[in-house]
Amino acid sequence: MWDGPPGIEPPASRLRRAVTGAGVACADLIVPPCCLSCRARTVAHGALCPACWSNVQFIRTPVCDVLGIPLPFEVGERTVSAAAVAQPPAYERARAVAHFNGEMRALVHKFKYGDRQDLRSLFGRWLRDAGRDLLADTDVIVPVPLSRWRLLWRQFNQAAVLSRELSRQTGIPMDPLALKRTRATKSQVGMKRDQRRRNVAGAFELAKAGRKRLAGKNVMLVDDVITTGATVEACARVLKRAGVARVNVLALAMVTSEVLATA
Ligand SMILES: [Zn+2]
Repeated sequence: MWDGPPGIEPPASRLRRAVTGAGVACADLIVPPCCLSCRARTVAHGALCPACWSNVQFIRTPVCDVLGIPLPFEVGERTVSAAAVAQPPAYERARAVAHFNGEMRALVHKFKYGDRQDLRSLFGRWLRDAGRDLLADTDVIVPVPLSRWRLLWRQFNQAAVLSRELSRQTGIPMDPLALKRTRATKSQVGMKRDQRRRNVAGAFELAKAGRKRLAGKNVMLVDDVITTGATVEACARVLKRAGVARVNVLALAMVTSEVLATA
């Protein structure tokens, strides 16, 4: 601990700051910009090369206004899929950046299991873009929580990291502590839709203080991947029951086929 005169920065800290500053200034000279996925040379830092970029299958309009799933054609101004009409979700609208396949799947795995925090900024920009309409009237960003043991094992909650980055880029506050897991749920890899729904039923709660903070607000729930929607549905139910005005959902990727991937 530095115990020098008050108001004077410790020498080690000054040195670190000088080195970091110089490092940023020289970053382009020392480390030429390279693709965040394959490390091929690119024109700018924090981006993908054209080959990797073209392998991300972005979700573009027309999409179901409720579920955010791509539709073959647009019917009117607000198109709602048959699936959303048959089984309306507890949340208002969901959007995802891309399909959970190809390069997006590889990037999500690098981020989740490979501790690739350098992907945050790109993911934040993508989320901001995909959720543009929904973010316009969002009061607070809330990440889907991880159970405590999984947090210990993985060291970070990827949904919270994405939420923090989105909050930083948009200026919308985030509330990472409002929503909690009440119990650990089994890993959902390989589970079918019904199994996933049972697995997460009653697994979330809104802390008393969180209830006060979020009542009457428009919440943006953030997760990395929407697989069947069971997790965000369970979270949205809890938020709605606690008096949240509106719940929208934003994710990096969405499983859009019936085949459940290893999310
Ligand atoms: Zn690349």
